[in-house]
Amino acid sequence: MIRLLESLLLLLLAAPTNADLRYQLTPRQIAPDTWLVEGATENFSRANGGDIVNTAFVVTDAGVVVIDTGPSLQYGDALHDAIRAITDQPVVEVWLTHHHPDHTFGNQAFPERALAALPETTEMLASQGDTFADNMYRLVGDWMRGTEVTLPTRALEPGPLTVGDHDFRLYRFTGHTGADLVILDETTGTLFAGDMVFFKRALTTPQTPGLTVWQDELDRLAAIPFRQLVPGHGPPVSDHRAFDQMHAYIDWLDDLLRDSAAQGRTANEVMTTPVPERFADVDEAAYELIRTTTHLYPRYEQAALRLLPGE
Ligand SMILES: [Zn+2]
Repeated sequence: MIRLLESLLLLLLAAPTNADLRYQLTPRQIAPDTWLVEGATENFSRANGGDIVNTAFVVTDAGVVVIDTGPSLQYGDALHDAIRAITDQPVVEVWLTHHHPDHTFGNQAFPERALAALPETTEMLASQGDTFADNMYRLVGDWMRGTEVTLPTRALEPGPLTVGDHDFRLYRFTGHTGADLVILDETTGTLFAGDMVFFKRALTTPQTPGLTVWQDELDRLAAIPFRQLVPGHGPPVSDHRAFDQMHAYIDWLDDLLRDSAAQGRTANEVMTTPVPERFADVDEAAYELIRTTTHLYPRYEQAALRLLPGE
């Protein structure tokens, strides 16, 4: 009996506990007053806890502006702790670039009055948040414990916005989700592009209004002058390489889907198309091709059918 208890105890000690699930967030200063917490260019997993996203914060003399809150309550708490370790300034603004869970599920860790987003972002988080939460619990498990969908309380609109000694300019795009906030800190020249720009990581398409819309908006976005660009996923970059990669990658995807539909290929055939060697440094490309085919191929098939001569 004692043996049995001993082995049970050992088993309990060996099993991972909640305390083992701790995000190791290390903010990196990328410009004056500006810190980046760079996530892995991976898909959600129980190993990474959803730490696959870039979050950032700007320490102004009127308080801290946080850009995106990460994938879970625990990540949000870790981010808030990391901010407190760097400055005594309170968090006064939390700007959400879009409603996806990896960018908004840390909201709970911040003051509700600070949470702000484009109005459509808040609407979409309200209607889709619970589905996202189910999905996230399935993908990353215990890391999500205690996480609840927490909605922004304030609406942002495009235009200039000053916080303390930093002048920001907000832009509204649609290419990734239908409501995509891009933030330029004019004081430092840092452009926070959210998921309008993925760099060295395949873009995701569950809610894009269309690849050609995204492509057109990238031209507008690339015309904004910046010193440094922070993508939603992937490393920051000080030139136009991220735009070049986005353009080339979207062109390839769009051509593949259109040509495949014209030739009557099945979705299964499209999904298993090898990713060209020139995208070798785009992480998760083969995986995202499967998802993108599921999201977008029916539209291309319908467009191809419309081009057929009628009976
Ligand atoms: Zn994202």
